[in-house]
Amino acid sequence: MTDSAATTAADLEIALRPTADPLPEAERQAILADPGFGRYFTDHMVSIEWSRDRGWHDAQLVPYGPMQIDPANMAIHYGQSIFEGLKAYRQPDGSVATFRPYSNARRFRHSATRLAMPELPEELFVAAVEALVRQDAAWVPTEDEQSLYLRPFMFATENGLGVKPADEYRFLLIASPAGAYFSGGIKPVSVWLSEDYVRAAPGGTGEAKCAGNYAASLIAQAQAAEKGCDQVVWLDAHEHRWIEEMGGMNLYFVQGEGANARILTPELSGSLLAGITRDSLLQLAADLGYTVEEAKISVDDWREGNADGSLSEVFACGTAAVITPVGDVKSRHADWTVGGGEAGAVTMRLRKALLDIQTGAAPDPHNWRHPIA
Ligand SMILES: *Cc1c(COP(=O)(O)O)cnc(C)c1O
Repeated sequence: MTDSAATTAADLEIALRPTADPLPEAERQAILADPGFGRYFTDHMVSIEWSRDRGWHDAQLVPYGPMQIDPANMAIHYGQSIFEGLKAYRQPDGSVATFRPYSNARRFRHSATRLAMPELPEELFVAAVEALVRQDAAWVPTEDEQSLYLRPFMFATENGLGVKPADEYRFLLIASPAGAYFSGGIKPVSVWLSEDYVRAAPGGTGEAKCAGNYAASLIAQAQAAEKGCDQVVWLDAHEHRWIEEMGGMNLYFVQGEGANARILTPELSGSLLAGITRDSLLQLAADLGYTVEEAKISVDDWREGNADGSLSEVFACGTAAVITPVGDVKSRHADWTVGGGEAGAVTMRLRKALLDIQTGAAPDPHNWRHPIA
């Protein structure tokens, strides 16, 4: 669906209406000392409305706060709800930069199209990110591996029980300080290969970052926990044979060691979510001189490669945790352990290389950093 009112960021200014009553400095500092993930929110949010006759309008930065929802709200009943996730990082000079926000803006448009929702212009998406991060810059933590997690989302605001694409939507952007994902060192996660449930099928919504995908995943995650595993690994919907993703993260496989390592990630099959971390690592791994390939990887490839030693490391990647090594693997048929249950050298090298770019500790040859405040 296109934005029929042809609103562009150029003719839509985000009105700044900040709170007169921000959280006192001492309370903010107490939160930033141990923010966890997604538990605390900054003083402000950005809100933009869309209606079929007016297009995008009423863009404003306002105090963070609750909203009233009508019981007949269409997003609640029929699930037109999409989101994004990106981070702002404190830089060595005290400034703040986000990472590849236009990539999130583009993916947000694609998710909207799949859910028959209006596309937010990319410039406006990024303008919202800039406005909120600038306003709430004091909420960007300063410690290693901390960041400000940004959550853009959009949902139907029309009320009614008729099934159809809604005629009204709201875009919101909220922000939440995030602590180090691994407190006390990087520890590989254990995974359960899910054969009872699938996350996504070709032609479905797996390529879109929509709320419903997560709702559908929770029972499989609960099953993984029952089996003593931290995370679920998704297989393809047809054959339950090809590796797709881990929870809400993409997967990478390392063959061989050192400079000769070969790095593989499942190809975008139509049901995988195209992670921006995944995409960045394809580039970074090549920059570091590794052979990189998008390929079909089966459960058997994984098990046999692990047994004969050709497959040395496996890790998952995504904005929230950057890179997470995978250790124990369990399924109905077999269990095995990757890399002796330790984080591998290639995994840790890639993790540092990516974090160094995000946090400004290394040069940024691909212009991924987006300085804001
Ligand atoms: C968001 C998400 C990812 C990771 O994407 P990034 O852009 O790297 O954060 C991977 N898989 C799923 C299912 C996701 O929703």
